[in-house]
Amino acid sequence: MRRFTALLLAALMLLSLAACGQGASTGGSAQNAAGDPSAEAPEEETPEVPEPEPYEISDPTVMPEDGVRDGVTYAAYDGIVEHLFFHPVVAYPELAFDGDAQANGIDDYMVTVDEYNKILQSVYDKGYVLVDIGDVWSETTGEDGAPKMVRNTLYLPEGKKPLILSFDDTNYYEYMLTNGFTYKLVIGEDGKIASWGKDPQGNEVTSRDLDAIPILDKFVEEHPDFSPFGAKGCLSLTGYEGILGYRTQTDTKSWTAAQEANRQKEIEAVKPIIAELKRTGWTFGSHTWGHIRLGSKSLETIQEDTQRWLDEVGSLVGPTTILFYPHGERPDGNDWQNTGPVFRYLQSQGFRVFCSVGIESFSYIKKDICAVICDRLHPDGTTLRHSRDRYLQFYDAKDIMDVAVRPQREIDWA
Ligand SMILES: [Zn+2]
Repeated sequence: MRRFTALLLAALMLLSLAACGQGASTGGSAQNAAGDPSAEAPEEETPEVPEPEPYEISDPTVMPEDGVRDGVTYAAYDGIVEHLFFHPVVAYPELAFDGDAQANGIDDYMVTVDEYNKILQSVYDKGYVLVDIGDVWSETTGEDGAPKMVRNTLYLPEGKKPLILSFDDTNYYEYMLTNGFTYKLVIGEDGKIASWGKDPQGNEVTSRDLDAIPILDKFVEEHPDFSPFGAKGCLSLTGYEGILGYRTQTDTKSWTAAQEANRQKEIEAVKPIIAELKRTGWTFGSHTWGHIRLGSKSLETIQEDTQRWLDEVGSLVGPTTILFYPHGERPDGNDWQNTGPVFRYLQSQGFRVFCSVGIESFSYIKKDICAVICDRLHPDGTTLRHSRDRYLQFYDAKDIMDVAVRPQREIDWA
């Protein structure tokens, strides 16, 4: 029902935009409407549809004119671009950490909404500003005529440090729904991205305070200087349980007309969500269709998986050059020293930035192929418990960790 309302709102918004455009071009809209009773009829029932607030996205690789924008001085930056990634955040710790088989895994790999809020505030206070991963490197032609990647100079507000955020597995997997996570993204009554789900009592909840994506949207609304270029984060999507909470996937084991009809419905429902995310600074990358291990699967399996991702996910979110390795597992043994058949294949499919997971925001432009490999840091239970020092430049785990709601497991700094 909520989804239907969201769709209806989106449709009405489009209609009203189209109507505005027509009015402007013909200059005779009032007359036209008066002459056509059907155009007037729905007006009484039409709910108030908020105009989407304008959202500006700019290019951090271009110096503002005279080096100043909105009274802020900009300066060239060629240093490290830090990169943090999150999994979906825990909305209801009492469901996540209830002692079932998933509890310790969620403790290892996730942060709670409270922790996430505190991390955003801390990186903001420490002078980080958001940049999109797609703006950090560009493809160009080398002296030998071959394509290669280059690191772009970024022009940042003076004294600020660039930060990429990425969000893995923003698919709203089935197992998460009963484990304290939100169920899907929707467009709320205010026209903005919200999450929908159920609280521990089973009540339906639409909110902007329970999910990493709308929480960051709100944070940027309240602190626009955190995102001087309008960037938010890159959403790393698999495909095997659909995307963003919509079951857009196929199943090769059995496929009926009813399943396909439902899939088409889900595809139509997710389209306005994707459009609004893109409009407001979110971008998308591949996390492979099946969350497969690129270090051990056969080239043939990886080719099939990649085509399926392009068919079922890429067809909806659009082309991407960003690949996030599932499990952080590098192809061909080691993609730093080697450029093996798997890496070459993935690169041939359009990927240019290959992200793993590591202990620092490492990046390396490969010399023998047009590609960048990079590592990301991972704020989660594991690093909150065991890597306090390494993350002090972003936040102090002592100030962040919800010790009381998490399982009683070892903490190095306690
Ligand atoms: Zn993953």
